[in-house]
Formats: sequence, structure tokens, C-alpha cells
Amino acid sequence: MVGPPPDTWAVAPDRARAFCMSPGVWQLRLPLPWPAVPHVNAYVLESGDAPVLVDCGSAGHPSHRAALAAALGGAGLSVGDVGMLVGTHAHSDHVGLAEWVIAESGCEFRMHPDTAHFYDAFREPERTRQARERRARQEGVPEDELGAYGDVREETEGILAAIEPDVPLRDGDRIGAWHVVETPGHAPSHVSLFDPERRIVLLGDLLAPVFAPWFDYGYSADPIAEFLGSLDRIEALGPMELSLPGHGRALEDLGAALALHREGVAQRLEATLAAISSGPAGAHVLTGRIFGHLPPVEAVWRLTEVACCLRHLRRAGVVVRHEDGDGRFWYGRA
Ligand SMILES: [Zn+2]
Ligand SMILES: [Zn+2]
Repeated sequence: MVGPPPDTWAVAPDRARAFCMSPGVWQLRLPLPWPAVPHVNAYVLESGDAPVLVDCGSAGHPSHRAALAAALGGAGLSVGDVGMLVGTHAHSDHVGLAEWVIAESGCEFRMHPDTAHFYDAFREPERTRQARERRARQEGVPEDELGAYGDVREETEGILAAIEPDVPLRDGDRIGAWHVVETPGHAPSHVSLFDPERRIVLLGDLLAPVFAPWFDYGYSADPIAEFLGSLDRIEALGPMELSLPGHGRALEDLGAALALHREGVAQRLEATLAAISSGPAGAHVLTGRIFGHLPPVEAVWRLTEVACCLRHLRRAGVVVRHEDGDGRFWYGRA
């Protein structure tokens, strides 16, 4: 469940920027239509043959193409110059314009192949909408609020097309000097890129300067466990000269960011357990106990997050799920 789309998908292309982060590594700051998430960072890696574009921004309105073109221009490039497109993961703000970039440049597209978490809703919107509403009802969402929980327009409007990678990326694959590291949790298709010579890592949405978690629910066994495992994987790479996230500024201290995200997850799990301690309930009531009253978009995001926490706690044997005669779930301490 991802909730309703932004009020408008349009962005101001003149807000796009290009920053040289290190020789041959450009950060393209692209505007987004989400008030809480105003930018996404794509990256240009200058490599031997032709530039590699890592992520390409959202779709949903033609102004996104103008923004990407403007940012590429800041790096001295046009979209036709792109030699390869790499997706860190299949979310709209990272691969929304993939179809256009590929059409304009003829470039190859590489991404992890576990794309169903986003592309299912694009390909089968009605089936996905019904499945989301069914699940929200089971978690205790009132009938008159189900529409926001079933919404699929983030997926159907936010990308131009469900483009599968020409070359599926897997752990240990190389893109020039860059090593692919599978880092699922935020999304099943999530990868990071690591240059071991220069100690630079492109983190996608694994880490950010602030703890603002998102975990895709329903397409892997335990997104929280996968996320924590991905933090361990990045830490095991060792110290970095430059840690570049998909949103926000370069991380000043990778170790501190790892600690912030581990602590944030631990607090959310504790809060979920505390909410259950007030009495067994479905995820909708538990979300209200943890976060209070929320506007519709955030209510959907938070319920999805609580569902991921509950799944993790169930797998750990700490929480059990029961189903009443109406098919509604409620969660209690094991
Ligand atoms: Zn993402
Ligand atoms: Zn993102």
C-alpha cells in the first residue's frame, strides 16, 4: 500500500541542479512533487565509453523530462549521450523516466530483476487495488477510508512504463569500477553501487541524512530483517570517502547514519510492541496508537510500516496474529 499520489505531478524544472561530487561523479538533484520529499538524486558516472546514468527521476508530468534534461545539461550532457541507465530500485522517483531515457539514447538498462513490488500495480491496477483494499479491511481500516489504501496511481502514473532490465543486476556484478551490492529492505529490487578504489558508495534509498523509513510490504519474507542485513552489508564494506544517498545531501558520517537507522528501526519495533501491550488490535488501531491521527497519505505509509514491523515481530516469535470470524486480524503478544 502506497497511498494517494501527489496533488499534482508537475515540478519546476529550474529547480534541477548538477553537482560534481568527485572527478567523474555528478549528482543530479531532481525536483519531486512530494512536499515531504522535494528532491531525488540521480548520478552520472563518467566511465570509459559513455556516461552511466544511475536513476533518472519520476514521471507523471512532462516537466520531469525537462528537469532531467536541465540537470544533465549542468553536467555537460544531453539525454542522448547516456550510454547506460542503472536503476537502484524500481520506485517511481528512481526509474520513472526510464522509457524516455532509453528511447532518446538507445542505452542499455540494468536493474535488479525483482521488480514485481512496483510493476504489479502498473500492470494489473484493478487486481492490485482490490488486494490492497481487502488487506486494509482485514487490518481494521473503516470502509469509508479504504479508497486511500487501495490507491494505485503512484504506480500507474509515476512511471512511464514498466521497463524490465536488459541486464539483471546481481550481487558482485561490475559496472566499470563499480561493484553491485544487493541491499534489499526498502524494496526487494534495491542495490547499492560501490567503488572500492575510491571508497565511494551510491546508497539509493537505503540510507539518508534523516531516518525516514519505507519498506515495501508483501513481496519478500521480512523487509525489516532484509533492511537490517543490508545495513550490515554496507558497514562490512569498510570506511568510505563519499557516501551518496538517493535523497538529501552526502552523508557526513556513514557510521553515524548506520547507527541512526538501526536505532530508528529498533524504536519502531519497540513502539509496535508497546502499542500491542495496550490491548490486542489490528494494524489500523495499532498505527493510531503509535502515530496518532494522520493525514490520508501518511496514514497509509504508516500502516504499511507497522505491518512490516508486525511481520518481523511475528517471525521473531514475539507477536502472534489471530483472525476473527469476519476475517479481521488482530495481533497480540506471543
Ligand atoms: Zn525508493
Ligand atoms: Zn526514493
